[in-house]
Amino acid sequence: MKRKRLLALFVGGVFIAAVMSLHRMLEQGAEPQQEAPAGQGDQDLSRLAQKIDRLERLLSDNNRLVATLRDSLLHPKGDNRGGANVSSAHSPADPLPGCRLADETKGGADEVQLLDVYDRLPFDNPPGGVWKQGFDIRYQGDEWDETPLEVILVPHSHNDPGWLKTFDNYYHDQTKHILNNMLTKLSEDSRRKMIWAEISYFSKWWEELDQKKRDTVKRLLAGGQLEMVTGGWVMADEANSHYYALLDQLIEGHQWIQTHLGVKPSSGWAIDPFGHSPSMAYLLKGAGLSNMVIQRVHYAVKKEFARQQTLEFKWRQSWDSSPLSDITCHMMPFYSYDVPHTCGPDPAVCCQFDFHRLPGGRVFCPWRVPPQPITEQNVQERALLLLDQYRRKSRLFRSPVLFVPLGDDFRFVESSEWDAQFRNYQKLFDFFQTHPELHVNARFGTLSDYFQALQKVLPVSSLPTVRGDFFTYADRDDHYWSGYFTSRPFYKRLDRTLEATLRATEILYSLTLAAMRSHGDGRLATGFPARDHFLLLTAGRRGLALFQHHDAVTGTARDPVVMDYGNRLLESIQKLRKVLESSAHWLLLLDKSQYHHDQSKPFLLTDDVMSAQDALPQKTKITLSEEPRILIVYNPTEQIRSSVVSVVIDSPDARVIDAETGRPMAAQISAVWAEPSRASTDSFQLDFLSELPPLSLVVYHVTRSSSGSAPRARYTFHRRGNPPTIHSEHFQMSHRQGPEADASLSLSNKHVQIWSSPETGLMQKLRLREGSERRVQVHFLWYGTRTGANRDKSGAYLFLPGEEGAQVYSFSEPPLVRVSRGPLYSDITSCLPHVTHTVRLYHLEGHAGRSLEISNMVDIRSQVNRELVMRIVTDVASGNRFHSDLNSFQMQQRRTLSKLPLQANFYPMTSAAFLQDAETRITVLSAQSQGVASLKPGELELVLDRRLQQDDNRGLGQGVTDNKRTSSLYHLLLEERRGGQEVGGASVEYLSLLAHLTSLSLSHPPITMVAPGDVQLPKLRPFLPLRSSLPCDLHLLNLRTLEDPQEAGAPSQEVALLLHRKGFDCSSAPEPALQCTWSAHEEVDLAAVFAPLRFSALRRSGLTMLRHDDEPQSARQQQTRLLILRPMEISAFRVEIQ
Ligand SMILES: [Zn+2]
Repeated sequence: MKRKRLLALFVGGVFIAAVMSLHRMLEQGAEPQQEAPAGQGDQDLSRLAQKIDRLERLLSDNNRLVATLRDSLLHPKGDNRGGANVSSAHSPADPLPGCRLADETKGGADEVQLLDVYDRLPFDNPPGGVWKQGFDIRYQGDEWDETPLEVILVPHSHNDPGWLKTFDNYYHDQTKHILNNMLTKLSEDSRRKMIWAEISYFSKWWEELDQKKRDTVKRLLAGGQLEMVTGGWVMADEANSHYYALLDQLIEGHQWIQTHLGVKPSSGWAIDPFGHSPSMAYLLKGAGLSNMVIQRVHYAVKKEFARQQTLEFKWRQSWDSSPLSDITCHMMPFYSYDVPHTCGPDPAVCCQFDFHRLPGGRVFCPWRVPPQPITEQNVQERALLLLDQYRRKSRLFRSPVLFVPLGDDFRFVESSEWDAQFRNYQKLFDFFQTHPELHVNARFGTLSDYFQALQKVLPVSSLPTVRGDFFTYADRDDHYWSGYFTSRPFYKRLDRTLEATLRATEILYSLTLAAMRSHGDGRLATGFPARDHFLLLTAGRRGLALFQHHDAVTGTARDPVVMDYGNRLLESIQKLRKVLESSAHWLLLLDKSQYHHDQSKPFLLTDDVMSAQDALPQKTKITLSEEPRILIVYNPTEQIRSSVVSVVIDSPDARVIDAETGRPMAAQISAVWAEPSRASTDSFQLDFLSELPPLSLVVYHVTRSSSGSAPRARYTFHRRGNPPTIHSEHFQMSHRQGPEADASLSLSNKHVQIWSSPETGLMQKLRLREGSERRVQVHFLWYGTRTGANRDKSGAYLFLPGEEGAQVYSFSEPPLVRVSRGPLYSDITSCLPHVTHTVRLYHLEGHAGRSLEISNMVDIRSQVNRELVMRIVTDVASGNRFHSDLNSFQMQQRRTLSKLPLQANFYPMTSAAFLQDAETRITVLSAQSQGVASLKPGELELVLDRRLQQDDNRGLGQGVTDNKRTSSLYHLLLEERRGGQEVGGASVEYLSLLAHLTSLSLSHPPITMVAPGDVQLPKLRPFLPLRSSLPCDLHLLNLRTLEDPQEAGAPSQEVALLLHRKGFDCSSAPEPALQCTWSAHEEVDLAAVFAPLRFSALRRSGLTMLRHDDEPQSARQQQTRLLILRPMEISAFRVEIQ
C-alpha cells in the first residue's frame, strides 16, 4: 500500500513538473509576440509556428515520460469501465481475469469434431468400386417423385496466378482469352452462367477493357450470369499463409470489386488449396460471405462425411461457443474438381460429359470412353446415363438440390470450347425439361443460385455443425501433402519479411497522413508524394497478396515462376521501404517546412540491403566519426518494448545516445564473422538496448568513441581434438582447455539457464529461475525418400520418407563451437556442416529476456533427396498430443496416430506449436511457416529445408532443387502451468500472454533507418503517437488507408482500423509480471486505449471494409467509444484519425 502511495506521489510530481514546464513555454512564447511590430505578419506567423512546434515537442516529451511511467507502473486494480486488470494484482492461484480456460467442446447430436473422426476412422483404404475411394451408391428411383432433383451446373475456370507459367504468361496465353470469350458467350444466351474467383487476373483484364465491355461485365453481373466468388486477390493457400496476409488479399480483392464492379461476393470457392483451415472460414464469414465450397480433403474423411451425409455443414470455430462464426460449407465428395470427378461417382461416365474432350481435341478421356456430341438420336440415352450419375451423387446429400461444377484448370480458352460445353449441356437440360416423368430439372447456375436453391428446401439450421480443420490432406493411398508445408523455405521466410514490412508501412503511412492533416488544416503537406506513395503501398499489398496463391507460398511452382515471385516479393519490399522512409522523414522533422522529397536521395535508408531476390539481407556498414550519425528505430508493435538493435559499423568503439534525452544506451560490440573463427578486422557489430514506446520512431546518435566505451563480447572456442585457429585483433578470444573442455557449456540470465553439449554445442537442459532442471535437447536429423525404381518419392507437394524414418545427423569431424558472452546477450553457436545453429539469451528485463532465441542458417545444396529437421526432445509428458497454430490465428490440437504413416502426422505450423503436461508447457514460436510433428511424447520437430530430385506426379513436372542459404528464426519458451488442468478430448487451447507477446516481437522486429552522414541535418524529434501500450491481448492488426472512392489511386481520409483481441491461456501466469494490462471484459474504451490518437467517424464494418457491411453509427458508440471486442475475434472499423 505504501509503495503504491509513493508511486502515486511520484506520478503526481512528474505531472505537475510537466504542467509547469508547459506553462513556462507558453509564457516564453507570448513575450516576443508582444514586441513584434506591426506589418511583420509573416515573420510572426513563422515564429508562432516554431513556438507551436516547440510546444508540441515538449508535449510529446511529456507524453513519452508519462507513457514510460504508465507502462512501468502498476495500474490500480479493477479500473472500472475499461476493466483493465493487472498482473500484480492477480495471485498465481486464480485464473487470469479475461483468460480462456482450456475447454473440451462436447459435440451435440448433429455435431462433428474432426479429431474424433480421426480417432474413429481405420484409414484402411478399401476399394470402393467405380468410386475408388468411396462406396457403391444406390437409389430406388422414387426418391424424387415428391420433390424433383434440381441440378445446378456451375461453369468455372481455375486460373492459377502462377504455377507452370508465370502470372503474366498465363494471362497472355490463356486467362485473357477466357475472359474475352466469356463476354461474348454469356451475352449470346442469358441461360448461360459462369463464376470467377481470382481478382488478380480479373483486375488486370479490366484495365484493358473499353467502357462498352465494362458495361457488359456489369450487365452480366447484375443479371446473375456472372458471379464473383470469394473475391480474393488469389485462391489462397490455407496452410502456410498468415491470417494477416489471408485477410489482406481478401480486402484487396473486395475493395477492387467494390470500386469497379459494385457487387459483393456471397460465396467462397476454394477448390485447389491443399487442405482447408477454419481460419479461412472465419475470415470469409467476417467479410460477409454466407457460403463456401471446399474440395481438397483427405479421401477417407470425404468418404466418412459422405456416409454420414455431412458433406454440407455449418463450419464453426473450435473456440466459439456461439453460432456467430458459423458459415455454410459444401465439401465436394470426390477426388478432384475436374469434370470426371464432379458429375457423379463414376469418372469413366462423367468424363463423357466433358465436351471439351470430344474426339479430335487436345484432351481426351483416360477411361477410354470418349464423349459424344449430343444429337437427337442419342440424347435420351446420354441424358439417362448422366441422370444416373446425378442421382447417385445426390444420395450423399440431405437435399434434392444438386451442385455440379463444370470446369477445370484454365478452361474455356477457345470459343469452340464454350460452344461444345454450353450447347451440348443445353440439349440435355432441354431433354430433362420435356420429360417430367424423370423428376429432374437442370440448369446452368452460379454458386449463389445453388445455395439459394438449397436454402429453400433445407434451412441452414438443419445442417450439422463441424469443428476442426482439414489437414493433413491425402488425395490417394499414403500420399500425404505435408511436404509443401516446408518446400522453398527461403521464400516462406521472405513472405513474412514482406508481411511485416507491409504492416509497418501501412500503419506509419496512415499516421503520417493524419498528422499532416491536423498540422495543415486538413490538407496534406505539399511536396509529400502521398499519391505516389499510395500507389507503392498498393503494389506492396498486391505483391504480398499474389504470393498467398496456393502455388506460391506453398513452394509448388516451377523454378522460373519461383524466381518471378521472388522478384515481386523483393520489389514489394523495396517499394514499401520508400514509403516507410519518407513517412518517417516527415514525422521526425521538427520543422515540417524543411520536408523535401528527393527520390534519388532519400533522407533515410533502411539499414539492410537485399541485393537480389534469392539473397539474404546484408547490413550496410555505417561509417562513424566524432560527428554523430543519426539512427532511427521504428517500433511497429503496439507494445512498449526493450529491444536489442544491431547495426554494423566500421569501428570497434562506439557510443550510442538517445538524441532526445542525451542518455547513453547500454551497448555491446560483437565480432562480424568472416569465417567461423575469423573475425572481420574492419566491420563490427554494434548492439544497443533501445527502449521503444509503442509505434514510435526514436532517434539515436552514434559516434566513434574512445576505446572501451562499449563493452566487447568475449569469445571462447571449442573443437574436440582439433582446436581451431583464431583470428582477431579486437576481441578477447580463448580456447576451452583442460578439464574445462569436458564440462557442459552454460549460459544464463535472470530468468533462464541452459546447458549445452561441450561436444556439439547443442542444448541439453534448461532451468527456469527457481525451477527444476528440464530436459530440452536439440537434435538435427535427416529424412530421405523412398527407394526403388517404381516407387513414388517425395517432391514439392508430397513427403514420402524412407521406411527407416529419420536418421541421426552425424558429422565426420567434431564441429566448431563458439560461445560469446556480452552484457546484452550471450550465445552458443554450433557450426555444423549444413547448418549454423545459434542459441541466444538476452540479458534483458521483462519478457524479452524470458525466451531463448534459436536461429539456423541452413545450406543443403550439396544433398540429394534429403530433408533436414530440428528435433526438440523434452521430458514433457505430452503423450500423443501437441498443438500447432492455424495461420497464426488459433491453436489446433493434434494427435499423433500410429495407424497413420509418418508423413500423415506432420502438420502446418505458421507461427506456433506447443507441448504440455499438467505442470509444464514448452512453446516454440517461429518467424516463418514450416512443417511440424511430435512423433514421440515430449518431442517436437520442425522441418528446415528439403531438396528433392524428382517430381511427385501432381502436375509440377520437376523436383525441388533450387535451394538457397536459408535462415530460420525461433523463440522457445518454457512455462510452468499453475492449476493447469488436463482437459481430455478435443480441448481448445490458447497461447499464453507471454507467448503472444514473444510472437509479436519475433514477427515484427524494430526497423532501423540511417540518415546520411555527409550533410547538415535538420532537427529531428521522436514520434510518439500513443501514450501507452495497448492492452497486451489486443493486437493492432492494421491501420490501412483506404482508396479515395472519388479519385482512383489516391488515399482517402478513411482508414481501416483492424483489431484482433487474442484469446490467452489461463494456466500460465506471466512471469515476470507483464508491463501491459489486459481486459477482463469484452468492452474496450477505444479513446483510452489509443490516446492521444482520436478516431472520428467510427463505424464498425465487415472485415474487408465493404460499405455494404458498415453498421450505422450508433449514438452510444460516438459518445462513449466503448466497443465490444470479443476474445479471439478480429474487429474492423472504418475511421478517420485525428
Ligand atoms: Zn490451382
